[in-house]
Amino acid sequence: MGTLYIVPTPIGHLEDITLRALRVLREARLIAAEDTRITRKLLTRYEIGTPLTSYHEHNKLSKLEAIFDALAQGDVALVSDAGTPGISDPGFELIQEALARGVTVVPLPGPSAAIAALVGSGLPSDRFLFVGFLPRKAAALRDALLELAPLRATLIAYESPNRLVATLAAARNVLGDRPAVVARELSKLHEELRRGTLDDLADHFRDNPPRGEITLVIGGATEAPAGEMWDEAGVRRALADRLAQGESRSAAARALAEVSGWNRRDVYNLDLD
Ligand code: SAM
Repeated sequence: MGTLYIVPTPIGHLEDITLRALRVLREARLIAAEDTRITRKLLTRYEIGTPLTSYHEHNKLSKLEAIFDALAQGDVALVSDAGTPGISDPGFELIQEALARGVTVVPLPGPSAAIAALVGSGLPSDRFLFVGFLPRKAAALRDALLELAPLRATLIAYESPNRLVATLAAARNVLGDRPAVVARELSKLHEELRRGTLDDLADHFRDNPPRGEITLVIGGATEAPAGEMWDEAGVRRALADRLAQGESRSAAARALAEVSGWNRRDVYNLDLD
């Protein structure tokens, strides 16, 4: 039985691939790639002729047997279009199934936009939470942010350029005007790490609509560590936000009581100007 190697690939700059990743790609019996056309460009650049097969969101279950047939004969390398497979990219099901079948799984360290953005942001990196892509719908986004609000951990999210301003504004409403960083086009020609508060960044990108790939990093809670009570300003802001979205006061009070440590009645009775 071969080994399943998880192989990170560049998120922009083609030189961001390790010598070990190149050797594993060269020596594997098969490369399972999210998009074979994208991976073929990388392989061509490094003169690697290993056979490719597709493994993506829509065939990730039906493709399993073909990949395990290849593993029975030798090593398989799993790659996604960019960065680390399994991080907001296909890979999780294959890795789980490989482990269930007793296949050795070897993860290679390498590029991931989340980690590059975090360490470049200058925000605390000793405790962080990667949340992938936040929900698109306003109500679901607000609920997700409310859940994140009390966490004393730097938050990292992937975001699309056309949703960035809406997400920054929603985050500002729920989390307050925290420090944040928009990491755009990391490792590419137009790389930008713009630092400020959520308000600053929303203003800037409203006036200068962003392009390219974006990772958003937001400072964690400083006043209300997980499990402790939110301060009154935070509860007021969250209540006002929910009411403005059309939620009833009783539903908003019930939801906020679950995350804020406040009693439902006290939230309900808060006087909002
Ligand atoms: N697996 C990848 C990784 O480890 O970084 C992430 C894949 S996810 C489908 C793609 C998202 O990652 C993009 O929409 C963007 O939010 C973020 N991203 C990818 N490349 C980036 C870059 N060069 N700069 C900033 N963010 C990037």
